[in-house]
Amino acid sequence: MSDVRSRLEAVFALNSGFIGGEWTAGGSGRTIEVLDPASGERIGATPAMDARDVDRAVGVAHEAFREWRRTSAKERSVLLRRWRDLLEEHVETLARILTLEQGKPLQEARNETLQSMAYIEFFAEECRRLYGETIPANTRDRRLLVQREPLGVVGVISPWNFPSAMIGRKAGAALAAGCTVVAKPAAETPLSALALAILAEEAGIPAGVFNVVTGSGGELGAAFTANPLVTKISFTGSTPVGKRLARESADTLKHLSLELGGSAPFIVFDDADLELAVRGAMASKFRNAGQTCVATNRIFVQRGIADAFATRFAEEVRALRVGSGVEDGVQIGPLINESAAAQVSEMVSRAREQGAEVVVGDDPRTGAFVQPTVVTGVTDEMDLVNHEIFGPIAPISVFDTDDEVIERANATPYGLSSYFYTNDYRRIVRVSESLQYGMVGVNESLTTTEVAPFGGIKDSGYGREGSHYGLEEYTQLKFICIGGL
Ligand code: NAP
Repeated sequence: MSDVRSRLEAVFALNSGFIGGEWTAGGSGRTIEVLDPASGERIGATPAMDARDVDRAVGVAHEAFREWRRTSAKERSVLLRRWRDLLEEHVETLARILTLEQGKPLQEARNETLQSMAYIEFFAEECRRLYGETIPANTRDRRLLVQREPLGVVGVISPWNFPSAMIGRKAGAALAAGCTVVAKPAAETPLSALALAILAEEAGIPAGVFNVVTGSGGELGAAFTANPLVTKISFTGSTPVGKRLARESADTLKHLSLELGGSAPFIVFDDADLELAVRGAMASKFRNAGQTCVATNRIFVQRGIADAFATRFAEEVRALRVGSGVEDGVQIGPLINESAAAQVSEMVSRAREQGAEVVVGDDPRTGAFVQPTVVTGVTDEMDLVNHEIFGPIAPISVFDTDDEVIERANATPYGLSSYFYTNDYRRIVRVSESLQYGMVGVNESLTTTEVAPFGGIKDSGYGREGSHYGLEEYTQLKFICIGGL
């Protein structure tokens, strides 16, 4: 077994964060257990670090920034490529760590690891094209230059639903731009971030450039927002925590990228390709057991195709296999914990009380496992469609006209992702321009890629990740006016 692989496999017993190139337990002496959501059993632990540990990590990241910002784009690119190659080489081990701490089926964990790798690869390439500009001068004796400079120390705060990809897409961009990073993964799923730190160290990324602190966000958040050396926070998580970070960051005027919650509409028009729409709805609704911010939250089907869609969709949902993510052939793993499952199952009971019909998944919950469920006869007033469901529950409602469905689809505080299916080119233009969302999938429901901008509007936050826009978010413009020529 390679040394790297054995280091990765030992992540369960590591019980350390990674600060300034050292594996450390931090100062509080307390730990947080990491549980396998499928069995509820303890699989490891991480230190419950405190504010002093965050300050120490920010301090070393600030020191490391002095040198890292001076490296050439090519030097950073080479190191990031090495990091990326290690992810590819160890994809199986990383996927297993991810499934054990998060619950998603192994195949999805592999895909997420490869997605994380793709982000690092893309930013390793893209940083070499982070061009500035020469502006034609307003006088003969001047030259006007604009260049992009790295922001400094970035706090990366990530959620439990994508423990690897959210680190890859944020830290990949930040490091490529010349920033240094202090990452705080979700307390439930810290092991994938620590595994990435092991690989960053193996890749030769210098000490202090990529750091991981572990612990509770509630306890550590203020240490990030109050520290003036943190110039940016890149956060993915819930809308209330995002708003809180924005408020707390006001005094130190931090740059912020906030990728928050969503309530994606999935619209099927009469003229849609039915099979394509059913496949799209399955993929968008049930990936990661519905625990994605871009998951379909509300399905609207036009009256003429409504019965046919509901019948075909229900057939597919009935065939889904639920079980522990490490078992072969499983498509739906557990939710992150029992309390999340209880909340989702409660949403279904409430929808039934409010008059909806449960057509698949009548016995929704065992432990953290929730049966894939289809609910029809849903109206816009029901609680189910006024929350981010974050579970494998598909609520279907019927609509008649384009104007009606656009109004209903937009009637949410969120504005992250949206999808619609039609074969009418005029509708494609009209509806995609009318949907108030940061992302629109037309006859496509898995739109996320490292080469395109990901992000939302309204209560889904601001800032973009992925693509050259995502790289620019870690830079600031400097204008240099050379006179006296
Ligand atoms: P969350 O409770 O907001 O937690 C996200 C992260 O923030 C975790 O690391 C958490 O740490 C930390 N945190 C909690 N309270 C904090 C505070 N006061 N200050 C600083 N950090 C704090 O969200 P979640 O339940 O993990 O994730 C689910 C949410 O994320 C959903 O709303 C989902 O839609 C959203 N999401 C959005 C995107 C997107 O790109 N738009 C992608 C994925 C998920 P602890 O774990 O220690 O509490």
